Amino acid sequence: MLGAMQDWTMRVTHVVDHAAREAGSREIVTHWADGSETRTNWAGIRRDALKMAQALERLGLKPGDKVASIAMNHSRHLVSWFGVAGMGGVLHTVNPRLFEDQLEYIVNHAEDRVVIYDAMFQPIIDLMKDRWPNVEHYICFDSGEHVTSFEDWIGAEDGDYRWVEGDERDPCMICYTSGTTGNPKGVQYEHRSTMLHAMAGLQPAAFAFSAASVMLPVVPMFHAASWGLPYAGAMAGIKFVFCAVNDPAVLHEMMIKEGVTDSAGVPTVWLAHFQYCDAEGIDLPPLKVATIGGSAAPKSMIERLMKSGIRVQHAWGMTETSPIGTVGGPTHDWEQMSFEEKVAKIQMQGRPIFGVELRTVDLDDFTKVLPRDGKTSGALQIRGPWVVKRYFKAEEDAVTEDGWFDTGDVGILHSDGTLQLTDRTKDVIKSGGEWISSVELENAAVGHPAVAEAACIGMAHPKWDERPVLFVVPKPGAECEAQSIIAFLSDKVAKWWLPDAVEFVDDIPHTATGKISKKDLRARFADYRLPEAE
Ligand code: ADP
Repeated sequence: MLGAMQDWTMRVTHVVDHAAREAGSREIVTHWADGSETRTNWAGIRRDALKMAQALERLGLKPGDKVASIAMNHSRHLVSWFGVAGMGGVLHTVNPRLFEDQLEYIVNHAEDRVVIYDAMFQPIIDLMKDRWPNVEHYICFDSGEHVTSFEDWIGAEDGDYRWVEGDERDPCMICYTSGTTGNPKGVQYEHRSTMLHAMAGLQPAAFAFSAASVMLPVVPMFHAASWGLPYAGAMAGIKFVFCAVNDPAVLHEMMIKEGVTDSAGVPTVWLAHFQYCDAEGIDLPPLKVATIGGSAAPKSMIERLMKSGIRVQHAWGMTETSPIGTVGGPTHDWEQMSFEEKVAKIQMQGRPIFGVELRTVDLDDFTKVLPRDGKTSGALQIRGPWVVKRYFKAEEDAVTEDGWFDTGDVGILHSDGTLQLTDRTKDVIKSGGEWISSVELENAAVGHPAVAEAACIGMAHPKWDERPVLFVVPKPGAECEAQSIIAFLSDKVAKWWLPDAVEFVDDIPHTATGKISKKDLRARFADYRLPEAE
């Protein structure tokens, strides 16, 4: 027998309805790629989303149809998140930095019928148009000659529209993984999973948004739903500041000018911001909260932010987990901790937010669940209502029989629930039968004053199987020697972890989402031989 509470389908349209009703005048500011700025608010976002839903129906789209966006962060992109979902469609946020073959694959695989793009990505459209036979309409978020401009297109509608209703388990967004192996895989987020994920993201242990928050999300809207920030922010009725360009000078100026309190991005974004401030001889912006995720936040980065009085939230997740799995921030014993202890705590990936469960299993035997003892590392698995069950169009589930998704990450669980990520399964270096964490070596190395960026990969070794080699990009003008880096690392990691070689490079390859691409680094140094392996 059911209880007697009201029916209220968990559809994301409720989120924008709420924001428009309860925080309608709260601003949404955009700094566009051409340097201009516009202001709208939550009421305006909803009004435009209603018009967009109407316009999509006029194009003949039906519930379940897919609409691709190839766009940076801005208010019109935000409108499309709700406009597409509002007509029952599925928004496919495409990462414009993907390679041609991946772009071809995902738009065809998703069967996108409409593509909405920023003018700066017109070259991608020109290049790909012939390779996307399913796409019937192209709309440009900006105005220009020979394009259908978004504002004109939705401007033809009156907005007298009712959101399409449907099941809360209908999909509303599809995101593809960046395909580090094989083809990218599509993860379909549901209205319900998105809603639950966003509600969980509001917890003080996660984003801790309030009506006083002003958020500038640097994490792109095309990457793992911008960590769910647009939905969580709408629920809390926060002010958003979007930058359609990722230039640290612009980000910095907007943060100061608009009174930004919160920001979120991958470590490389923060690194670029530090370098900008150093070059200009200025302080970091007066943020309250900096969320770092997507890759491990290096110790030196955490220290610098904390010393500037900024609270650091270190989050872990992946496209398959909507993406938030864990978030680390101050705990009950925070005030009793020394600065060093606080930094060490934040360096770990935090604790699962309510809704997801974690476990680690033996790397060689997935049926063996490992203890949460703070020292045993294993394959990290996760389950929960916003974790993928089956990839789009896949024939088999992506989870174990008891519903766990294997993340491909390697980590340690501590007794207080803290996750300490040690590596990715394919990046750990196996030396003499023991595991070496490439991530830990990299993080330690970037603490060296002359190191701008570092990446560590295992190289074949006749005796030990693999040995670590560290690739280092020196800071501009810095004097940097291999010996000094090895000496610097020697009291930070076990002696047998010390890299067999340190190689200086001008740059380290990155993935489309700004993370170090070990795959490309390995390819670049495919012919590399360790001195002893000659
Ligand atoms: P991809 O990089 O393959 O496109 P995601 O963006 O979904 O996919 O990345 C997910 C992966 O990023 C995780 O499995 C993990 O390896 C890594 N990652 C995410 N957050 C962190 C973090 N805070 N610390 C270390 N690694 C992280």
